[in-house]
Amino acid sequence: MSKSLPTDGIGTKAIHAGQEPEPVTGAVMTPVFQTSTYAQPAPAEWPWEYSRTHNPTRTALQACIAGLEGGTHGLSFSSGMAAIDTMARTLKPGDRVVCGDDVYGGTYRLFTKVVAPMGVHFDFVDLSDPAAEIPVGTTMVWCESPTNPLLKVTDLSGLVTKAKAAGARVVVDNTFATPVYQRPLELGADAVVHSTTKYLNGHSDVVGGVIVTSDDALAEQLAFLQNSVGAVPGPWDCFLTLRGLKTLKVRMDRHTANASEIAAWLASRDDVAKVRYPGFSGMVSFDLAGDLAAARRFVMATRLFTLAESLGGVESLIELPAIMTHASVPPEIRADIGIADGLIRLSCGIEDLADLKADLEQAFRAAQG
Ligand SMILES: *Cc1c(COP(=O)(O)O)cnc(C)c1O
Repeated sequence: MSKSLPTDGIGTKAIHAGQEPEPVTGAVMTPVFQTSTYAQPAPAEWPWEYSRTHNPTRTALQACIAGLEGGTHGLSFSSGMAAIDTMARTLKPGDRVVCGDDVYGGTYRLFTKVVAPMGVHFDFVDLSDPAAEIPVGTTMVWCESPTNPLLKVTDLSGLVTKAKAAGARVVVDNTFATPVYQRPLELGADAVVHSTTKYLNGHSDVVGGVIVTSDDALAEQLAFLQNSVGAVPGPWDCFLTLRGLKTLKVRMDRHTANASEIAAWLASRDDVAKVRYPGFSGMVSFDLAGDLAAARRFVMATRLFTLAESLGGVESLIELPAIMTHASVPPEIRADIGIADGLIRLSCGIEDLADLKADLEQAFRAAQG
């Protein structure tokens, strides 16, 4: 267990939480403990046993993210989906889940194609609507805020109040907001999940996930599942994510500065029908005036905004949700929740703002065909 830090500052925690100098050498950065097993002084007497169960690099990462989210337990996984799957494994046949209606496409696929056939009932509703109801008997509420790709924001405290009255556990996917802007556990949520692939690692070089909770019983169940199922990250991925986390606060400041300027600039244009930006973090979605063909020309014309799925890295990315990240959501549901064919999603990186604007400017010209 690491000492408690003399701060609540998120920038300081990102660098120090869960990380003490390595006791043997004093190494300031947590080393990559690239080992599967550990010598035991006597049979079954061990501080460390086997790396599926525990690994010091992973322990440091878990403690750092738990510290950032203000939770007492962190569990990391080999992907965001593995973290979400592990949360879903706490459900039983007959359980009822109320889930946001424009969650990450992979979450929707896991819930509808893998978890629902095992007897769990899902209702997909717009949780950002203050009138959304959580029926009594609901086991779990699954919320993303802001949502992807429509960037709708949910009043988490209000949702927690309704969910608690219904007897439901609340899980928040905090990938888009990051603990820099939103700490759901402080607002009463029971658990937070992240795709650390995105902002927490921030350099587009690792796929990973994490769950954070302050509920001891839930943490014990999740640690049992983490070890039993085995979807754990390797020490090298944990090291890279720890390294990426150190700059989380400065990166997020810059993502927000760039994205807010770009969102305001897009909103002022006649060739943009609608801009969605929640006011923080680096994601901006907009409807291009014009058809899918124009949107295709736009995303193929940018040079600094790379045409790619994923988000949250230092480099800017651009994509078309309807045919890329959200292609696994049925067309009628996409239409229903407002993911138009011409919707363009930007992950604004931390490059120079003038260069990003110039890149988009020339794409607007190219889109005209
Ligand atoms: C990417 C993402 C996931 C899935 O994470 P992976 O690391 O790709 O498995 C889950 N939720 C959100 C909001 C995401 O953006």
